[in-house]
Amino acid sequence: PLVLGIETSCDETGIGIVQGRRLLSNTIASSMDEHARYGGVVPEVAARAHLEALQPAIEAALSEAGSTLGLDGPLPLSALDAVAVTSGPGLAGALMVGVGAAKALAVSLGTPLYAVNHLVGHIAADILTGEEVEYPTVALLVSGGHTSLLLVRDLTTDVELLGETMDDAAGEAFDKIARILGLPYPGGPQIDKAAADGDPTAIRFPRGLSRASDMQKHRYDFSFSGLKTAVARWVEQREAEGLEVPVADVAASFREAVVDVLVTKALDACAAYGVPRLLLGGGVIANRRLREVALARAAQAGVAVRIPPLSLCTDNGAMIAALAAELISSGRRPSTLEFGADSTLPVTEIQIAEPDAE
Ligand code: ATP
Ligand code: MG
Ligand code: FE
Repeated sequence: PLVLGIETSCDETGIGIVQGRRLLSNTIASSMDEHARYGGVVPEVAARAHLEALQPAIEAALSEAGSTLGLDGPLPLSALDAVAVTSGPGLAGALMVGVGAAKALAVSLGTPLYAVNHLVGHIAADILTGEEVEYPTVALLVSGGHTSLLLVRDLTTDVELLGETMDDAAGEAFDKIARILGLPYPGGPQIDKAAADGDPTAIRFPRGLSRASDMQKHRYDFSFSGLKTAVARWVEQREAEGLEVPVADVAASFREAVVDVLVTKALDACAAYGVPRLLLGGGVIANRRLREVALARAAQAGVAVRIPPLSLCTDNGAMIAALAAELISSGRRPSTLEFGADSTLPVTEIQIAEPDAE
């Protein structure tokens, strides 16, 4: 099926078009520049930006899809078999803009509408790489808003949350440490750059929820607030002693602590569930060290790692369209139109507002 997907859960306005498992276009407009001076995503600013970016993004996606298909002009809206939209989780106001647009589009075109889960969308992104996807797989989603470890037995019916962050998301931790080190927002790429010249073993920062006593209740959960405090204290103490702060070493040691705990817990889940596959997703996957360590340690453990291209790892509409296309292929009926935006939608709800069985 030809599906147009709309993603507006955070600061990216993503419009993607797929034909089954084939990616036709993936247009992303980000309002990140507008948030940078506030040091974080401002929900109302994001929502207003979606409102302005949606129409041009849809047109750009239709043009791109037209040229992918070798058409003379843009793909006509009338060619779409379905519309898909992120219903949650995410920023409520931002989600509402996408949901409103998707409903209007589907109603005016008379096409079915599929309301889907953003996190499961991140997993669906992998389908668009064109390689054979196998389940079950463990999936680690790390972004500015999420740090989730999932067991995916079946993309359209069975996604289990093994663990998640108890406080900050991994990307958020990068952003906060960058601020402590005087680096600009968003901090992830800045820390990555600064860490390149640093020694990852210079300072031993804590690995959250990794002690034996945490293993019972929080084996697959994450915590980055203790790490953040440890870095802040370390930096304060240096400054109090009148010493220079070795930014590169702090960045490298901090990054190592985050990467270590993410990879250790993900591979622990692979071993415990006997699943030799690990899928990585979310914007923090841009982190070079994370990819490096994940690939090296997974190879040792006999686990195959999948890392989609970054354009499919960060928030985008193509992954939303891909998930809907899978739902359609597996015979699921469209969502009924009374759904809204659910900022805390659990990952187990893959499709929202499914009609009652007859
Ligand atoms: P959501 O949580 O809804 O997926 P988001 O917009 O917060 O949305 P992404 O756009 O996927 O998340 O990722 C942005 C986050 O990724 C930011 O916190 C940013 O600092 C972090 N990030 C980006 N590049 C890197 C990097 N090289 N290393 C570490 N973190 C990074
Ligand atoms: Mg983002
Ligand atoms: Fe996301």
